[in-house]
Amino acid sequence: MLKVLKFGGSSLADSGQFLKVKNIVEADEDRRVVVVSAPGKRHDNDNKITDLLYLCNAHLKYNASYEDIFQMIQDRYQEIKENCSLSVDLEAEFTEIRSHMRKGMSVDYLVSRGEYLNAKLMADYLGYTFVDAKDVIRFGQNGKVDRKETEALFKAEFQKHDHIVLPGFYGALPGGNIRTFSRGGSDVTGAIAAASLDADLYENWTDVTGILMADPRIVENPQTMATVTYAELRELSYMGASVLHEDTVFPVRRKNIPLNIRNVNQPEEAGTMIMEEFPREDNPRYVTGVTGLRNYSIINVYGTNMSKSTSTLRKVLEICEDFQLSVEQIPSGTDSFSLVIRTESLNGQKYELISAIKKEMDFLDIKVTEGISLIAIVGRGMAYKVGISSMFFGALGENNINIRTIQQSSDEISIIVGVHDEDFEKAIRVLYDRFAR
Ligand code: ASP
Repeated sequence: MLKVLKFGGSSLADSGQFLKVKNIVEADEDRRVVVVSAPGKRHDNDNKITDLLYLCNAHLKYNASYEDIFQMIQDRYQEIKENCSLSVDLEAEFTEIRSHMRKGMSVDYLVSRGEYLNAKLMADYLGYTFVDAKDVIRFGQNGKVDRKETEALFKAEFQKHDHIVLPGFYGALPGGNIRTFSRGGSDVTGAIAAASLDADLYENWTDVTGILMADPRIVENPQTMATVTYAELRELSYMGASVLHEDTVFPVRRKNIPLNIRNVNQPEEAGTMIMEEFPREDNPRYVTGVTGLRNYSIINVYGTNMSKSTSTLRKVLEICEDFQLSVEQIPSGTDSFSLVIRTESLNGQKYELISAIKKEMDFLDIKVTEGISLIAIVGRGMAYKVGISSMFFGALGENNINIRTIQQSSDEISIIVGVHDEDFEKAIRVLYDRFAR
């Protein structure tokens, strides 16, 4: 059995957190591959090392002194080294980084040092072999991870050393230069490691006890999801629930590897298990999560005899494509239809869009309503069950929330409605109360 573990920044913020990680890894001999982030915040007013490294880069660019910031970074690693009694030669590592900085390095190189140094320390602490991510994660010319090459490199490395620690967040371009993922990318490194090594489980250790059923800033004390499918997670993340880096799911899902989100500060909790499907679910919860996004606009298009036309919608969607607009929903009536679009993406081109649509077609009227929020309930337990939508609409209606648009996914795992922005939080609370309590 092989388990790949990824630890997030707050789980590695200082020597105290390092000790918790060591205890977790040593509690299970299958935990043989460990991916680390850079040290994160120790408290609310603290800095993430990655942010400090970006700041150093900005100072370098404007020829300002970065000494104070760099010293803060060094001190953070020094604290971990001393209190965990490690022997990594940090002096030599920092001298090398400084020399690259003087010669002019890429920003990706500099910011990747956060995870690089943390992995060196963690490997020493666990007695595992340090493997540099640049030697196993390879990007192709197209900027995407070269899956085949990466998998082969991982397998070869793992044959040589079967207990490894590697830094998250980066890999190497074909010429060998460092390239980072987007922010939060260590989640992706963990997923790629798990997929490349055909792991049995990918454990993503963080500072929350799993994925919450609703945003805790809106709902008081929401419950943790015990289980969620990959499909549900996609829906929830797309509709605003921020959980993992969005590219995390693809590598592990492709290989059907379960993903377990766990809390470093409460390792006894089972966290959230994410899988393709769950066997023998006699009575799954109807709704797995409630989420939503603000700031959408509805463009209502009215015409005559539109129900007979076979090309109207296509033409209007082509115009949206020209304006690079992604259309979220298309509710339609007999002689009208609407486009639900992110207001931000309309980006000052609202009137141009309207006149382009008017020019193309002979519409009677076009109206735009801004300030719309999309609210979603997501749950595999809803599929093919009678009465869920009546509970859903009943809850909103009883609480005086007007519904502007309605959409159900064809696999019946999500229902999404458009409401006015001022009802955003109320709608999420009401739905949570109806389905989760
Ligand atoms: N350290 C990087 C960041 O802060 C990557 C990560 O932590 O996942 O974005």
